Amino acid sequence: HAKEKGENNYQFFSSDMKSTLLTKIQLEKDLRQAIANEEFVLHYQPQIHTRTGEVIGMETLIRWEMSDGNTISPGKFIPLAEETRLILQIDEWVLYNACRQAKAWHEDGHPHLKLAVNLSPLQFLHDNLMVTLQNVLEKTGFPASLLELEITEGVAVFDVEKAISRMQELRELGVQIAIDDFGIGYSSLIYLKRFPINHLKIAQPFIQDMATDPDDMALVEAMISIAHSLGMSVIAEGVETNEQLAFLENLDCNEVQGYLFSQPLTVEAFTEMLAKEKLQSAGVLHPGR
Ligand code: C2E
Ligand code: MG
Ligand code: MG
Ligand code: MG
Repeated sequence: HAKEKGENNYQFFSSDMKSTLLTKIQLEKDLRQAIANEEFVLHYQPQIHTRTGEVIGMETLIRWEMSDGNTISPGKFIPLAEETRLILQIDEWVLYNACRQAKAWHEDGHPHLKLAVNLSPLQFLHDNLMVTLQNVLEKTGFPASLLELEITEGVAVFDVEKAISRMQELRELGVQIAIDDFGIGYSSLIYLKRFPINHLKIAQPFIQDMATDPDDMALVEAMISIAHSLGMSVIAEGVETNEQLAFLENLDCNEVQGYLFSQPLTVEAFTEMLAKEKLQSAGVLHPGR
């Protein structure tokens, strides 16, 4: 019997799984190294006020730049970082460095920019989050009121009551909260009603299909109207075409973000973009405006 069992086990543990496991172990090792060596960089994607066309803030998006020059996107390492809880260290690093950079832009003549930071559910619900945040805000001098934390509806899956009390704590600190990727996953209108949040971020797939699929259009319209009646503002992500923008403008979507305006930019490129924007709005580039 033992032999049979052993054989079954061996078969079950196929070579495919073995190589996946090895890749995972290697990736985890590399990830720990990356944290120690600070191999991460932050890119920033502008968020645009739909009506005025002005840049009102930016979302920070992490990239892993390996020592061999390869760049790894967050979709490839965040899941493992969450599984290993290494995300706690990564998110803390992101919070501190993004707030420091945003503060520098404030001091460089753009004091109104808000900063959006993605937080993993693990970090969002962690006992130390409030202390971490207070330290970051104190050390960087970045104002709480211009910090927006992006979380997914997934936070509710772990513990709804805890998620709601955490949102209340954040509110008391003056930090804003956005629900990211709204409409996919565990969306529930009951949560939406109970969450003390400021912003709803409509998930990309709806935006990308709204111009061609009347069902998506209807859903986007409904999401915007629900958010507005609950006193939330709406941001659309993944806006790529002028057609999508025109529809969103019509539906009173408050903010837009996507390749139509800009890809996520390096610090240098974002700084340059801000300088150009300032010239434009001062009428230097388009004196007729
Ligand atoms: P997300 O927060 O929903 O970010 C939006 C993703 O869409 C980003 O991918 C962004 O680069 C991409 N994107 C922006 N505009 C467009 C567009 O017009 N078209 C298309 N097709 N894509 C667009 P990215 O940078 O690869 O990030 C993927 C996800 O990784 C993020 O989704 C977020 O959930 C997570 N993430 C990124 N940075 C962090 C971080 O610092 N901490 C945590 N915990 N998660 C992060
Ligand atoms: Mg996000
Ligand atoms: Mg997301
Ligand atoms: Mg999103």
